[in-house]
Formats: sequence, structure tokens, C-alpha cells
Amino acid sequence: MPNYKHKIFSKLPKVKTTIFTTMGQLAQKHSAINLSQGFPNFEPDQNLINLVTQAMNQGYNQYAPMTGVLELREEISKKIEQLYGRHYNPENEITITIGATQAIFTIITAFIGHGDEVIVIKPAYDCYEPAIEVNGGIPVFVQLNNSDFKVDWEEFRSKITSKTKMVIINTPHNPSGTIFSTEDMLQLQQSLEKTDIIVISDEVYEHIVFDGLEHESASKFDGLASRTFVCGSFGKTFHITGWKMGYCAGPAELMHEFRKTHQFNVFSADHAVQKALATYLKEPKHYLSLNKFYQDKRDLFLSGLSNSRFKIHPCQGTYFQLVDFSAITLEPDDVFAERLVKEYQIASIPISGFNTKGIDKHLVRFCFAKTNETLVKATSILCKL
Ligand code: PMP
Ligand code: GLN
Repeated sequence: MPNYKHKIFSKLPKVKTTIFTTMGQLAQKHSAINLSQGFPNFEPDQNLINLVTQAMNQGYNQYAPMTGVLELREEISKKIEQLYGRHYNPENEITITIGATQAIFTIITAFIGHGDEVIVIKPAYDCYEPAIEVNGGIPVFVQLNNSDFKVDWEEFRSKITSKTKMVIINTPHNPSGTIFSTEDMLQLQQSLEKTDIIVISDEVYEHIVFDGLEHESASKFDGLASRTFVCGSFGKTFHITGWKMGYCAGPAELMHEFRKTHQFNVFSADHAVQKALATYLKEPKHYLSLNKFYQDKRDLFLSGLSNSRFKIHPCQGTYFQLVDFSAITLEPDDVFAERLVKEYQIASIPISGFNTKGIDKHLVRFCFAKTNETLVKATSILCKL
């Protein structure tokens, strides 16, 4: 029997179990209200479930095409064109993936190799850096401003070198809940103008934007669309995070290269779910109603916290709200989050782990993709702190 104890050369020596898993387990152990990992605690539309069952009964139980069901790619193409005015050819510019996570991992694997630099804006969603590092790439960080989470575009430009191969952006942004303005997108476009840098635009919360603000998709901007993979996720939009279904759209030459890796990474995604989503997407109200649906939840959550000691800037998008707990305690955010589960039975996500150098600004993230009853119960507990 080989003994691997001292023999494994880890490609990811710093990586631990994700904070989402850790906090989720802690929530379960303490029977806490779980506002940590981002997922709805209510059911998706029964009609969508019925469409999947129907597709299974119709025999869509074997491999889907490698690039995804064409009818679904056509519906995605129509949606992007209607919303953002850009045409992606469903044949060779859109691929269906196993959630946005797989799209992002596969893009990085297809394009990033030893010594390539990838600019990551921090705090960042946790799947970017390990994907870069496992492929031998080097993440280069730009920290968002601590008060309003804006990018300092001068600093951003100073991080671009001859080794920069890729930039990853995320709007609406997890965990801050802020969105990129048109000006931000133009700054990004201009910064990359004279380069061959590829962009991953993680837009999984594109349909969760509040207060009449607009989502600025990279696909809207000529100078970005020509170098960008736009990544989407049906998990967020249709309350089906467990179905792991997403896609990416990008220019044909980039997509051609992407598919070389995709076909050996997963080959294809769930067939019946793709058939169901192709039908479900034909009705735009299924995604256009989401802004209001989640704005009502955000507002309920915020009004419930109005008498609490948390300091809050209402989020502009996503189903996450950051709260500043410094008026309650100055303990480290992970210690506070752990105490919140154990003593108050509320699970949250501490933010320092997503920042460069673990910067701790006394912030935790709550997910408000929960039933109104859960939100009322949670906020009444949080007001006691
Ligand atoms: N990007 C961001 C910013 C996310 O919050 C998430 C998670 N939910 C993902 C990507 C992954 O999406 P999926 O569940 O479709 O893989
Ligand atoms: N996107 C989810 C969040 O931010 C986490 C999904 C996961 O656990 N990988 O909470």
C-alpha cells in the first residue's frame, strides 16, 4: 500500500474546504437559520419541474450535444440580443456548461498556463483563484475601495504587464452587492484597448439588480465583447442552484478554443434540464420579474434591520447584503460569524477571506434569498445584538 502522507505535492497547498461548506455545516450543527451560502430556501416554479419530467418521459435521458441543446443556445442568444443588443451565433458562440463554475474553470484551463498573470478584483468569489493556480497561473489582485467597493482604475492599469493574459470581473458583485456602472465598463474597455487580454465577465446575477439601475453586461460594449466570455447561471435566475446549469457566450475564435477543453472536461450537461430550460426561457417574464421579486426581499430584510446596530449600505444587486457590525463588536469577522451561529443561530459569511491579505473591515454577508417568514424571523433575532 503506498503511503502518500509525505509524498503528495499539492497543486493547491493553501486551499481549504470553502467557507460556504464550513458555514453551512456549522448552521446545520446549531440548527441555525442559514443565511450563509447563497441559495433560495423556497422551491422553483412547479411548471419548470414539470418540463424536466416531461423531457425525461420524452426520452431525453442520454448525452446532450457537446456544445449544449441547440434550442437552448438559440433562446440564450435571443435573450442576450434583446437585453444587451449583441448577437451571439448559437452555433459557435454559446456553450452550455455545468453551472457558471465549470464555465469559469474551463475558460481558465483553456487559456492560462505557467506564469500567466490574471487580474482578479478583490473581494472575489472563491472559485477564481484556485482555478488560476491549479493551471500554473498567477493571480494579481486589485482591491476594491473599502468604503464603496469601487475599482481604482489607475491602480487597475498599473497591474497590467506583458504577462497579463486575463482579467476576471463580476457584476453584480458577490459579495459586496455593488454593480459596475457604464463608466466602470468604459474604463475597463479603455484599459484593455491596446492588449490581447481576455476577459471573463461573471454575470450570474444579471437579473437581480435593484432601484431601477441597469446591469451593464460586457456584451454591450464592442471593445469588450470582442475579447470576453460572458458567464451566466440558471441556478440564480430560476431558483435551481442544485441543478448546476449555466452557459458562456463569447466570440467564435475564443469559443472554438474553449470547446477543445470543455469536451474533455465534462463533454456535456444534463440533457432533460436543457430541454426544459429551452421551453421555459421562451417566456421573458420568468427572468424579467426577478428584479422586483428580490428587491421586495431586500427591502423586507433591510426594514427588519432598521432598528439594529448594524451599519448598512443597501446592495444594488445580487441576493446578498453586507452588514458592518463594528458598532456591536470589534472582534475578527470570522470569530463574530462563528459566535452568531452558536449563540444566536444565524449563519452568515465573513468577508475577510475574500479580501487581499485578509483585510478585515468587520463585515459579514447575509443571503436574503429566503422566504419572507425566514427573513422576519432572522431580522428579529439580529436586532437583539
Ligand atoms: N459566480 C458567482 C459570483 C457566484 O456567486 C456563483 C455562485 N453561486 C457562481 C459564479 C457559480 O455559479 P453556478 O452555481 O452556476 O456554478
Ligand atoms: N455562490 C454561492 C455563494 O456565494 C456559493 C456556492 C458554493 O458554495 N460554491 O454563497
